[in-house]
Order: sequence, then C-alpha cells, then structure tokens
Amino acid sequence: MEKKLEVKNLSVSFRTPLGKAQAVRGVSFELYAGETLAIVGESGSGKSVTSKAVMGILSGNAEVLSGEILFDGKDLLKIGEKEFSRLRGNKISMIFQDPMSSLNPIMRIGKQITEAMLLKNRAARRKDKSVPRLKKSEARRKAIALMEEVGIANAEKRFEQYPFEFSGGMRQRIVIAIALSANPEVLICDEPTTALDVSVQAQILKLINKLKRERNLSVVFITHDLGVVANVADRIAVMYAGKIVEYGESEEIFYEPKHPYTWALLSSTPDLETKERLETIPLSPPDMLFPPVGDAFAERNPYALEIDFEEQPPFFKVSETHYAATWLLHPLAPKVGIPEALAERMKRRKAKWTK
Ligand code: ADP
Ligand code: MG
Repeated sequence: MEKKLEVKNLSVSFRTPLGKAQAVRGVSFELYAGETLAIVGESGSGKSVTSKAVMGILSGNAEVLSGEILFDGKDLLKIGEKEFSRLRGNKISMIFQDPMSSLNPIMRIGKQITEAMLLKNRAARRKDKSVPRLKKSEARRKAIALMEEVGIANAEKRFEQYPFEFSGGMRQRIVIAIALSANPEVLICDEPTTALDVSVQAQILKLINKLKRERNLSVVFITHDLGVVANVADRIAVMYAGKIVEYGESEEIFYEPKHPYTWALLSSTPDLETKERLETIPLSPPDMLFPPVGDAFAERNPYALEIDFEEQPPFFKVSETHYAATWLLHPLAPKVGIPEALAERMKRRKAKWTK
C-alpha cells in the first residue's frame, strides 16, 4: 500500500518555567493512501502536539528534538518555510475541535470560503504565472458546490449568513468545506466531534467517511473517545504519555487488544446505546516534566510487572499489522489475558457494531 505520510521517531518538548515538558516521545506511524488512521488517547497524551508538528504550527516554546515527517518523500522538518506553507493547508489540511476558532464571527460564511480560495490562488499565481486567475464569481460557484458537498442545504442562501446563524454541527461542516477548498490529499481531524451532541457527532462522522470515499482522502482522526472511532477507523494507534503504546487494525484493537492501557480505555468507553456503568481509569497520567523511566502506565496498571517500573517495553509483534509495547507480551511474562468483563462486553458489542 502507498504511504501518504510517515512520521518517524518524532519527539517534541516544550520549554516551560518548570522545565522541559516531554509532550511527544518517539512517535512513529504511517498513514496509507485512502485510509483513516485514528489516534486515540486521554487528554494530554500528545495527540494534538503530534498533529501540529505535522502541520508545522507548533507554538514558539516547542522544540522538535528528533524525528522525520515524510510526505511525498520529503521530510517536512527539513524543507524551507516557503515549501512547507505550500503543503500545509493545501496537500495537508487540518480541522479542529472548536469550529468557531477557525471561523471569523463577523464575516459572512460564503466570503470565508471564497477568501480562502482566492488567497491560495493568488499565492499560487505569484509562484507560477501560468496558473489561471480565479474569478470571484467562479470562487462563489465553487464555494456553493463545496457547501452542498458537505451537506449544507439551501447553500445559496446560507452563503450570505454569519457563523452565529449556524448550529455547531453546521459550523463544523463549513470548516470542513474550507479545509477541502484546496483539494487536500490528507485531512487531519483533531477531535472534530468532541464539542457536538451525540446525534450530530454521528452525522459528522458519516460526512468524513463519505468524503474519504469520494475524494480518496487519507484521514488522521484524533479523539480521546474510542467509541467514536469504531465507525470510522481502518487502523487505530493508541497513545499514552507521549508515546504510541499499541497500534493495529481497528478490529485488532477492539477485539484483541494487548496493552493494559488499551484495556482500560476500552473499559471506560461508554456504549452509545446502553449507557452502561463504566470503569474509570484510576489515577492520572504522569507529569510530562518528569516522565517515568519505565512503562509510563505502570503506576495505573493493575497488571504491572516489576520490570514495568524499570524499563520501557519495546514493541512486540502480535500480527503483521498489530504491535503493542507491553512487557506482558514478553515470552517470559506471566500469561495475562483480556480482563473477563471487558472480553464479555466486547463480545456483546461485536454483535452490534457493523462498520
Ligand atoms: P492531547 O492528546 O490532549 O491533544 P496535547 O498534544 O495537546 O494533548 O498535549 C500534550 C502535552 O503537551 C500536555 O502535557 C500539554 O500540557 C503539553 N503542551 C501542549 N502545548 C504546550 C505548550 N504550548 N506549552 C507547554 N506545554 C504544552
Ligand atoms: Mg488535543
């Protein structure tokens, strides 16, 4: 399969008054063409920092300590600012949790979409005179088509409205339309449904699936909620304390999880329908100013071995597509299976969930 994007051994720290916060610690993943890769983990695990590094929009106190971010065979961390900004927002687009933060509250929706197109067209023409000029009327026509593509009814009329006249879900659709206006190949969605009601959430997920299919987009879908990705992800990477601790195909992560953190996440993920009582994960994630020497999950892990407190586990291979970094997979480790309650629960879900 063609690799669209490849992140290798990425480490990012932040300078803070208290010291260096090691937000991302040696993250590697691949995004294949036309797939949706979900990155899942509790708040603070480094998901947003990872995606901001890919977009080149880290804050000023960030420091990329190591890594490569390969797109079209080029390392985004090595190319110049100019080339980077051509890729960012064009071949790679990103949408965020709060659509309001990406929209101008006092500018008509239509203008915000056309403005994005006209700006890009101008920038492209500055570099290459043979790029035809985008006329305003043409931009308007394209913007309305995009609004229709993302499921906004009465697009002609709504083109003239302001963000406050749209619901949260509709605003997220507009932000998606703006992200699509440059015909990206990769779309990074950072908690795009977290601020929305459950029913609206489902609609946005459906839209992302449709766009992925119709535009052959490669999608990175970031969320703290494993329940959300069941219906969108082809593969899942589970992140904890700045590291990926397990990754595999969606089915492998849901039905054959190997890392105790993945077990804990799955056990704390509510079923959309049954709202059954959940187990919460005890304690909090570690302080990234002083990350533990061993497995960062050890102190919250009821299955922790002595070695978990001393040495970071390597990735152990579970299948061609499935890897987990837990000492429990070491041949000499005691045999510990998926907790029984979770296994039961997943069996019930499997019967219900269809992709
Ligand atoms: P999430 O997985 O919730 O998206 P983030 O990637 O936003 O987590 O953050 C990862 C870690 O990096 C957190 O501990 C957070 O406090 C820290 N962090 C993020 N941005 C900054 C910043 N600008 N300055 C200092 N620390 C930061
Ligand atoms: Mg985040």
